[in-house]
Amino acid sequence: ATPTSIMAGSGRAAELGILFKGGEHLESAHKVDVVLLDKTGTVTKGKPELTDVRVERTKLPELLELDFLRWVGAAEKNSEHPLAEAIVEGIRLKYPDLTLPDAAAFEAIPGYGVRAVVEGQEVLVGTRKLMAKHAVNVEHAAMSRMMQLEEEGKTAMLVAVAGSYAGLVAVADTIKETSAAAVARLHNMGLQVVMMTGDNRRTADAIARQAGIDQVLAEVLPEDKAAEVKKLQAQGLRVAMVGDGINDAPALAMADIGMAIGTGTDVAMEAADVTLMRGDLSSIPDAILMSRRTMRNIR
Ligand code: ADP
Ligand code: MG
Repeated sequence: ATPTSIMAGSGRAAELGILFKGGEHLESAHKVDVVLLDKTGTVTKGKPELTDVRVERTKLPELLELDFLRWVGAAEKNSEHPLAEAIVEGIRLKYPDLTLPDAAAFEAIPGYGVRAVVEGQEVLVGTRKLMAKHAVNVEHAAMSRMMQLEEEGKTAMLVAVAGSYAGLVAVADTIKETSAAAVARLHNMGLQVVMMTGDNRRTADAIARQAGIDQVLAEVLPEDKAAEVKKLQAQGLRVAMVGDGINDAPALAMADIGMAIGTGTDVAMEAADVTLMRGDLSSIPDAILMSRRTMRNIR
């Protein structure tokens, strides 16, 4: 590759908001076989909104939604996860006068949820696995309600108070307007597109369907995302990983080319080889085309 063509290519890419960290990445992007997309904040807007609140009253017949949400909110206000922010914001909109107490203890369990002690009681908010870990029994009716919400593409989180199932909350995160068109372009370019997420299978499939993605890796724990990149590479595939979160950084570093969404976290941008300033998926086919053109010019 001549330095001149690389310079020109990088300049044109930069005009489109595609910032390659070095000429070698502009040169290698055209070799990609698979584009691996993080879900939350990459395929979706990453701005989930609280949509459903269900209080379970079998064990606590007097439990008010207000008290339920005070406990949930007190637990979640300590978490920086986008799901937590959505829950707290939703509670504030619903009950503007509600004061969320400070939790006496707090623990974020990546990929599972949160655990906090609020007003002397242990509060858990998160996945089925989080409930199983803490031996919380969730009735069949609640499980099927959860599945129904997930089939709508929502992320439902179970809530336990003092060791008993107390209800659930659900949030919805919609796909970016440009995601489906960008995925179609990638398919037309002959690339495989795979979505990867820590979210459950049903929600992940519903979101992927909306974006036209037919390959989905769901329920991937944060520490396993890089291993999924490695697995694809072991099949002889060259992988472009696209993500926005702190959780995505090891996978972005592991990939043949890491692409960070410019509206995401600094950690992701530091780990990546390219930053997509426009913040949407249409920059991925643009970046690969730019590389193809640059390489064609120099051959
Ligand atoms: P993603 O890959 O979509 O960003 P994560 O790996 O961060 O997802 O989280 C996986 C799952 O763990 C979430 O879908 C949610 O069910 C649960 N979870 C994570 N953080 C929280 C939280 N702060 N509160 C409740 N549930 C959470
Ligand atoms: Mg994300």
